Amino acid sequence: MQNMQKADIKSYTQQELSDFLQSLGEKPFRAKQLYPWLHKKHAKSFEEMTDIPKKLKEKLITTCSLTVLQQADMQQSKLDGTRKYLFTLPDGNLVESVLMHYSHGNSVCISSQVGCRMGCKFCASTLGGLVRNLTPAELLEQVYRIQADTGERVSNVVVMGMGEPLDNYGNVLKFIKLLSDGNGLNISQRSITLSTCGIVPKMRELADEKLQITLALSLHAPTQEKRMALLPVAKKYGIQEAVDACKYYFQQTGRRVTFEYSLVGGANDSGEDARQLGELLSGMNCHVNLIPVNPIGEREYQPPSRKEVLDFKNKLEKYGINVTIRREMGRDIDGACGQLRKRFSERQGEG
Ligand code: SAH
Repeated sequence: MQNMQKADIKSYTQQELSDFLQSLGEKPFRAKQLYPWLHKKHAKSFEEMTDIPKKLKEKLITTCSLTVLQQADMQQSKLDGTRKYLFTLPDGNLVESVLMHYSHGNSVCISSQVGCRMGCKFCASTLGGLVRNLTPAELLEQVYRIQADTGERVSNVVVMGMGEPLDNYGNVLKFIKLLSDGNGLNISQRSITLSTCGIVPKMRELADEKLQITLALSLHAPTQEKRMALLPVAKKYGIQEAVDACKYYFQQTGRRVTFEYSLVGGANDSGEDARQLGELLSGMNCHVNLIPVNPIGEREYQPPSRKEVLDFKNKLEKYGINVTIRREMGRDIDGACGQLRKRFSERQGEG
């Protein structure tokens, strides 16, 4: 109980940290000393903060919690070096994060929730429902621990792992601000991507924040009917509303929107689907990322053949749309989002 009342200082902005230290009777400049320990040097304990006076450390130990994720498991791909991390949160819950090496730098994909309540049909993260939201500190820690583990700078962050980030809006927004803070990791907002299944009011709210991050919409179908069959959230927020919210995002931020489209054999991959999708998006300043669906065992969905994927791409390009096929990373390690966590939990259950 007492632990729950402790201040979660890694979730504080530097100003909030300064206010908090003042409430402990400390000078505000101490925030300037403490903030880099939390957000640049990634200290695992108050003890190692060498320039913080002993008395203050003692105060911090009794009044604050220092959120540090523990590495429970890690798999590294022999094909491309992709690393999939499984982290234990302070309360014992597990989340997955992935590190991918690209020519333009290291990219980390983080989870935004433990589980998910969106119910997308082909996704493994949603099978057990939502457990809870991650705090700003837990979102940051996924990036910090990976950077500390590899000793290499992380240059891009995608919020595309387990969970729906706009269902955890306040914490994710704070995370973005802390991650791009000049006194922390200082990752440019243009190097941060947030992917949503389409919670329209929150997409519009995000547009009004006028951040420079990239917004990605999980579209996955060209029509309302087909989208509803794959994404239950579409029953609440229709496809046109979601696309309009993307147009609004572009208007407000000048940032080109990405549409993710997971190709599911027989469900959304026909020539007619490509044509309808082309018509839906034609004239928009956007980018479509095609992702051959990653089969998750529990469901019968299968990806189309390579040729079918290329045909789909060609048809879409005829509408003047910029299309890429997602490079499959780490094909030899537990693939789709949520699978490593699921397998690990099952193993623990057996053991
Ligand atoms: N909730 C957010 C972010 C998490 S999922 C969202 O829906 O966008 C990241 C992307 O992976 C989404 O586009 C999601 O639909 C897709 N995805 C999930 N499981 C998949 C699978 N088995 N195969 C292909 N894409 C998948």
